[in-house]
Amino acid sequence: MSRTPHPIVTLRAGRDRSVTRRHPWVFSGGIEAVEGRPGRGDTVLVEDDAGRPLGWGAYSPESQIRVRMWSFSPDDVIDAAFVDGRITRAAARRDALLASGTDSARLVFSEADGVPGVVADRYGDTIVVQLTSAGADAWREVVADALFSLPGIRCVHERSDADMREREGLDARSGTLRGDAPDPDLVAHEGPWRFVVDVTGGHKTGFYLDQRDARAAIARLAPGRTFLNVFSYTGAFSVVAAGSGAASVLSIDSSGPALDVARRNGEVNGLDLGELMEADAFTALRGLRDRARQYDLIALDPPKLANNERQVEKASRAYKDLNLLALKLLAPGGTLLTWSCSGAMTAELFQKVVAGAALDSGRTARIVGRLGQPSDHPVPLAFPEAEYLKGLILEAE
Ligand code: SAH
Repeated sequence: MSRTPHPIVTLRAGRDRSVTRRHPWVFSGGIEAVEGRPGRGDTVLVEDDAGRPLGWGAYSPESQIRVRMWSFSPDDVIDAAFVDGRITRAAARRDALLASGTDSARLVFSEADGVPGVVADRYGDTIVVQLTSAGADAWREVVADALFSLPGIRCVHERSDADMREREGLDARSGTLRGDAPDPDLVAHEGPWRFVVDVTGGHKTGFYLDQRDARAAIARLAPGRTFLNVFSYTGAFSVVAAGSGAASVLSIDSSGPALDVARRNGEVNGLDLGELMEADAFTALRGLRDRARQYDLIALDPPKLANNERQVEKASRAYKDLNLLALKLLAPGGTLLTWSCSGAMTAELFQKVVAGAALDSGRTARIVGRLGQPSDHPVPLAFPEAEYLKGLILEAE
C-alpha cells in the first residue's frame, strides 16, 4: 500500500530507550529534529537517530510531551479504523464489569487503553468524554462515532475542561457530540445504590467512578458506626454508609452545588443522609476537634493537592495536616480511609506522610488494607504514570 509521506520526528542519540520500552511519551528534550512541519495533533513517524522507525504518535507543538505514541508498530496505519478499533476494544474490556451489577464504568482510560488523551465514562445510556491532548482533539469525530455506536448508547457528551488542555494549546470545550442532550436526572446504578450524575455541571465527567472499590469497602465498614465523610463531593460514600446502617453520617464539602446533588442522592435512594456541611475541610476539622467530636469511621478524599513534582512538598504538608486532624477525631478502634489522588506523589511518600501524622497525633495505627484504582482504571506495566489513586485503610488503637 502506498502511503502519503508523514512528518518525521527523529530522537536524539540514546533517547529512544523509553519508546522502545513502549512508554508512550516523547519529551521535547529528547528530540533531535522534526521534518515536514507537523501541525497540532498530526500523526508523525518517530525514528531513532539512525533513521530506524519506532512507531507513530500525535504531535503536540505546545506541550513538553511533544509526541504521544499511538502505536509502536511502524507497519500500522493511523486512520479512523485504527482509532475506532482502539476505542471499541477498550470498551469491550469493560463488558465483564458492566455485567456485574453496575451500568457505569470508565470505558476508555487514555494511555492505559492506547488512546492518549481520550477518557470516556459511561453512566447508563450516556457517555461523557474528555479529550485532553492535541492528538485526541484531532480525532474528536471518530472518537464520538465509535462511542455512539456502542450498544445502548443514547448520548455522547463532551466535557473537555480547561486545566489539562491549556498545556496542549487547546481551549475548553463542552457540549453534546452525538444523540440527545444528557438527562439532567441521569443516575448511575451500582449494586443497590443510585448516584445522580451531574454531567454538565459536576467535576470531571460528573462522578468519581474510580472510588468504586472504596464504596464496597465502606458498605462493609459502616454498619453501626458513626461516619465522617470529608471532601464528600456528591455524597457517594455517605449514601453507601447510610444505606448500610451507619449510626450517623456527617458529610463535609466546600462546594454547595455538590452538596445539592448529595441531597438529591439521599432522595433517590430513600435515605436520610444526615448533616451536609458546606465548609472548608481544614477549618471544619479543626472545629470538630475543638468540640472533641469522635467518629468510628472517617473518609478523607481530598482533591489533587499536587499537580506536579514541584508542588509535592507543599502538598505533603497539607496531607499531613488533614490526616493529623482526622486521626485526632478517630474514636478508639476506629477506621480511617485516607487517599491521595496526586499522580506526582508516590505511594511510598504518601504512606510516610500519614505515618508522620500518626506520630504527631499520638495514635498507633496499622494499615489493614489498601484502596486504589479499580479494574476500569488500569495501569500498563510500561506506563506506571497511569497510577494516581493511593488509599490506605488504617485501624487506630
Ligand atoms: N469522595 C468523593 C470525591 C471527592 S473529590 C466521591 O467519592 O465522590 C474532592 C472534593 O473536595 C470535591 O467535591 C471538592 O468540592 C472538595 N473540596 C476541594 N477543596 C476543599 C476544601 N478546602 N474543603 C472542603 N472540600 C473541598
